Amino acid sequence: MPERLVIIGSGPAGLTAAIYAARANMQPVLFEGFQSGGIPGGQLMITNMVENFPGFPEGIFGQQLMANMRQQAVNSGARLLTEDVLEIDLNSYPFKILSMSEEIYTADSVIVSSGATAKRLPLESEVKFWGRGISACAVCDGALPVFRNKELAVIGGGDTALEEAMHLTQFGSKVYIIHRRDEFRASKVMQKRVLTHPKISILWNKTVDEFLGETRLNGLRLKDTVTGEFSEIAVTGAFEAIGHQPNTSFLKGQLQKDEQGYIKTAPDSTKTSIEGLFAAGDVQDPHYRQAIVAAGSGCMAAIEAERWLQERAGI
Ligand SMILES: Cc1cc2nc3c(=O)[nH]c(=O)nc-3n(C[C@H](O)[C@H](O)[C@H](O)COP(=O)(O)OP(=O)(O)OC[C@H]3O[C@@H](n4cnc5c(N)ncnc54)[C@H](O)[C@@H]3O)c2cc1C
Repeated sequence: MPERLVIIGSGPAGLTAAIYAARANMQPVLFEGFQSGGIPGGQLMITNMVENFPGFPEGIFGQQLMANMRQQAVNSGARLLTEDVLEIDLNSYPFKILSMSEEIYTADSVIVSSGATAKRLPLESEVKFWGRGISACAVCDGALPVFRNKELAVIGGGDTALEEAMHLTQFGSKVYIIHRRDEFRASKVMQKRVLTHPKISILWNKTVDEFLGETRLNGLRLKDTVTGEFSEIAVTGAFEAIGHQPNTSFLKGQLQKDEQGYIKTAPDSTKTSIEGLFAAGDVQDPHYRQAIVAAGSGCMAAIEAERWLQERAGI
């Protein structure tokens, strides 16, 4: 017998979908993931304090928040499998899902909530200072006390980088934007905002050669992409905004995606280009990429999957 609903991914989107689906008696099976596209629990497992998820006035550690969501999904009756999905065949129905343990599952409906991976600079010093001054999310971490009234840097030149820089001007004393080219890719409106902002200073034609510090980040060594010259700036926070990679390799191009690789969903819906397959969370969200938004869309996906199954069954 096919599963009624298979959920792929155990971040806030997948676990919220599992809680809703289990409580609707859909007996969902959830692939937590193992290593492809991040660890079980998703992106919040690699951060410290989450201060903007409602319900936790003092904040909550990312790992604790995800442990709570996981426990709630289990308590609700979801079946969790700690493995990666390697492949899914969307040309057959019920959908066929091949997992890491080489077992084939079939499913009447599927929610893809496999998240996205923030691209990171491939430097050893980046790993050393990750979470000690380096972050991939200014909206998430910019307000932390360690960054208040300090000189900060954003690395990147797209819309996200410029938005993050604007956001950081509320907290930092100065915000550098480090961009490897001599012009931005971002929209003209956004460019005007940062170019005229008194707290923002743009360092054109620069890449980060090394993150500097003892136990915490306290500076960056930069390399000029035109002259090859090195320079240093003192900053206590560096925010990488060099893009995200949606985790969709197991879909092998069977679903419609946008030009950045995010799964396309119908407006105000989690429906994808394939009937019976829904997408929730960061894997379909190039705009917000926040846990509460991912959780909200996981809830939507579970409700939409339930209604879709009922309509198919003529209920
Ligand atoms: C450093 C950092 C700090 C952040 N801080 C905050 C914050 O303070 N507040 C906030 O709201 N947001 C924060 N975010 C953003 C937030 O983490 C994401 O918006 C949220 O986790 C997205 O949830 P998701 O469920 O869509 O995907 P993810 O959390 O990315 O989870 C994806 C899941 O899919 C699984 N997976 C991937 N591929 C497969 C596969 N082939 N088979 C099976 N499973 C698979 C992964 O193992 C993972 O469990 C932060 C992000 C980062 C990187």
